[in-house]
Amino acid sequence: MSDTQYLAASTIEEAVNAHSKANGSARFLAGGTDLLVQIKSGIRKPNLVIDVKKIVELNSIEEISENEFVVGASVSGVNLNRNKKFSKLWPGVLEAFRLIGSEQIQGRASLGGNICNGSPAGDSVPALIAAGCIALIAGPNGKREIPIEEFHIGPGKTVLDNGEMLVSLKFPKREINSSDAYLRMTPRTEMDIAVVGCGVNITFENNVCTAARVSLGAVAPTPLLIREASKIMVGSDLNSEILDKVSNICMDLCDPIDDKRGTIDYRTKVAGVLFKRATLTTIDRIKGN
Ligand SMILES: Cc1cc2nc3c(=O)[nH]c(=O)nc-3n(C[C@H](O)[C@H](O)[C@H](O)COP(=O)(O)OP(=O)(O)OC[C@H]3O[C@@H](n4cnc5c(N)ncnc54)[C@H](O)[C@@H]3O)c2cc1C
Repeated sequence: MSDTQYLAASTIEEAVNAHSKANGSARFLAGGTDLLVQIKSGIRKPNLVIDVKKIVELNSIEEISENEFVVGASVSGVNLNRNKKFSKLWPGVLEAFRLIGSEQIQGRASLGGNICNGSPAGDSVPALIAAGCIALIAGPNGKREIPIEEFHIGPGKTVLDNGEMLVSLKFPKREINSSDAYLRMTPRTEMDIAVVGCGVNITFENNVCTAARVSLGAVAPTPLLIREASKIMVGSDLNSEILDKVSNICMDLCDPIDDKRGTIDYRTKVAGVLFKRATLTTIDRIKGN
């Protein structure tokens, strides 16, 4: 890392300008729990590292209207956890984040870093897709917003162009009778990456599902939003037949790799199981069980 220059940017503009001038040889630095490991192991060799932790917009958790939050990309898991109202409204997002590494890692690791690292197995991403988050992006040509399910375009690849940074995530206004859950399967109980991850977000009123979003991680080159799931779940009472149907759809849409952590068959089967469990957990949360 001896040739790498370091810049602690204090504004979005400064960070974006420095990144675009570097023409692809700069990386933004948040908690560093992915980037510094990659630099030390020689996987990445940036000429410039731009620290974004001092930029106010990237570090704030703001309730912009009742039950509607914007969370800065550099907010760490620990700081997100400390926001009692956010934790109550989005337990699934928090449970995804709490699975990332150890307590020490969570003191540094940010939501933005987890997303921008681009791993198909990043734990927070299925939970954020299920939540229906919008990514707020700033770049040399101004600002833009995209749904988080469109952010990843391949393993390690995102929609960010040269100079563009993720500023924050906008969560939709939390409706009553809504909750979420995230479950993952790993060969070890901790400090391992997901073999499968599943995020579910539901609104369930008078025993009828009125909104649903289901997302799977680590079963395809990018995290997936299972759009067909919503179509079947909404309007139903989420009985076991409906859950079986959606579980089969989840399995059909899996296109996982075969590796030492899990075979294609295993990952596919686990995706169906995690969908059902995460849905039942979410319903229990809504009912206050
Ligand atoms: C021991 C250990 C255990 C781990 N366990 C897990 C786990 O269980 N689950 C899991 O999902 N991950 C795990 N990780 C990976 C890592 O901790 C997470 O991905 C973390 O959320 C990354 O956040 P960060 O702030 O450290 O990112 P950084 O390392 O700072 O950045 C990661 C990438 O995102 C880019 N980036 C950061 N911020 C921005 C921004 N605002 N705009 C554009 N690009 C940006 C960086 O340039 C870099 O390419 C683990 C890592 C370690 C070392």
